[in-house]
Amino acid sequence: MSNSTKYIFVTGGVTSSLGKGIISASLAKLLQARGYSTTIQKLDPYINIDPGTLNPYEHGECFVTDDGAETDLDLGHYERFLNVPTSQANNVTTGRIYQAVIEKERRGDYLGKTVQVIPHITDEIKERIQLVAKKGKFDIVITEIGGTVGDIESLPYVEAVRQMLWEHENDCIVVHLTLVPYLAAAGELKTKPTQHSVKQMMELGVQPDILCCRTEHELDLNLRRKIAKFCNVSMNAVIESRDASSIYDVPLLMQAEELDKVVLEKLGLPKKSTPDLSRWKSFLDRLKNPKKQVTIGLIGKYVELKDSYKSISEAFIHAGVANEARVNVEWIHSEKLSKDNIEGELSHLDGILVAPGFGSRGISGKIEAVQFAREKKIPFFGICLGMQCAVIEFARNVLNMEDAHTTEISEETNFPVISMMEEQKSISNFGGTMRLGAFACQLKPKSKIAKAYNTEKISERHRHRFEFNNEYLTQFENAGMIATGKNPETGLVEVVEVADHPWFVGVQFHPEYKSTVDLPHPLFVAFVNAALENKK
Ligand code: GLN
Repeated sequence: MSNSTKYIFVTGGVTSSLGKGIISASLAKLLQARGYSTTIQKLDPYINIDPGTLNPYEHGECFVTDDGAETDLDLGHYERFLNVPTSQANNVTTGRIYQAVIEKERRGDYLGKTVQVIPHITDEIKERIQLVAKKGKFDIVITEIGGTVGDIESLPYVEAVRQMLWEHENDCIVVHLTLVPYLAAAGELKTKPTQHSVKQMMELGVQPDILCCRTEHELDLNLRRKIAKFCNVSMNAVIESRDASSIYDVPLLMQAEELDKVVLEKLGLPKKSTPDLSRWKSFLDRLKNPKKQVTIGLIGKYVELKDSYKSISEAFIHAGVANEARVNVEWIHSEKLSKDNIEGELSHLDGILVAPGFGSRGISGKIEAVQFAREKKIPFFGICLGMQCAVIEFARNVLNMEDAHTTEISEETNFPVISMMEEQKSISNFGGTMRLGAFACQLKPKSKIAKAYNTEKISERHRHRFEFNNEYLTQFENAGMIATGKNPETGLVEVVEVADHPWFVGVQFHPEYKSTVDLPHPLFVAFVNAALENKK
């Protein structure tokens, strides 16, 4: 371990969904604002190599990094809070750990030895924790352990943390997130689950240094004293984490509780300057005091689980703030849209976004939504599959290619206007084999998209197998759908626009992954602005 790097482990007890990702991101933000270069890593205890093949209903959105890693959606929070890109090293799963160990075993690296959870799996975990520090030369690495303490599958991770604490006791601390539930019948907050959760950690040899207590009500001095005494931590290490109206409030709530100060004290690091969060505060101020509002329909097939579109909904929050507007996102199920109800379902919207996705479920509703937006001149934004739907709709209804489709859904179509990328044709494995990560894109001068970015050279992240079929490009452009962005090396169409429309942009890439509090994404900002101008 490099002498200069410090490690903070964030674990969770009592229940899942306590918001370890947001607490980790908020702590990182405070440390970053004090001048420490900080990154966050997520260790996920599931056996999948990555979440790339998971249905969004299982785990929410799959976030994609510049280097093409398909990762947990918490990495999106890390980037949105810190405005620093993450990479493959920032997300590790049990599957990846075992895969690496098994590959080493086959290579003969452990020749003669029995390969075991301890030490081989735990060594691999420790190596991955330290790799992220080495790669980015960070002062502080925050490692969030997924799952809840007590789960069988997270045991090797807690053991790896125990070993790191033992090997580098001055460089590591543990922040444990727990729940202090309110029992309405008793009219009281209860500390017992927290005590038990800490006891469980101690049975595994790990004494948490700091407790972040999720609670609906104030943790008064008596409760704090009780928790400190029975959980073996100092009084100032009992941090109240009250429910907040926005995740973007959490860094300020943690600052008020002095979480960053306690962390630095325990790590033996100087406090440096008081964090300058003026930009963050001004963002929050504008978020809470919008001057206008706008309603945008998000058409997708996973709308029952909003986490499936996490980065898109966060990008709308950022873009709303940039426009001093509140963006009301209406979640509309594409499977429920048809020619008969489209007018009633969509005509009140100021803007329409058709979401990314895979497979045929809900596709016809998405295509109907595009047609409605195009013909009624409602600002339209299509992302990945949403852009592909825009191409299919234009082919069918403007170019009269009746059964035009993507070959992802219909291999028999007479007009494969979206087809599989050449390099994808020989691939048979599903996992990690799409066109992934950042690619350059050259924009057409004076296009809507070039105006939005205010530049003609951009780089955006991708996650797809299918592409615009360039054999049809001339026909599309002659009829008014223009390719306004292309990959400069391959000529792949990355952006389409309808010329005769107030704002109709479809992008093959995923701009939502790059929107942050500090840098709201220009395309979302321009789309929200167009929707405001179109306001009903
Ligand atoms: N299913 C489409 C493809 O693979 C679009 C993917 C997406 O929307 N991310 O090309």
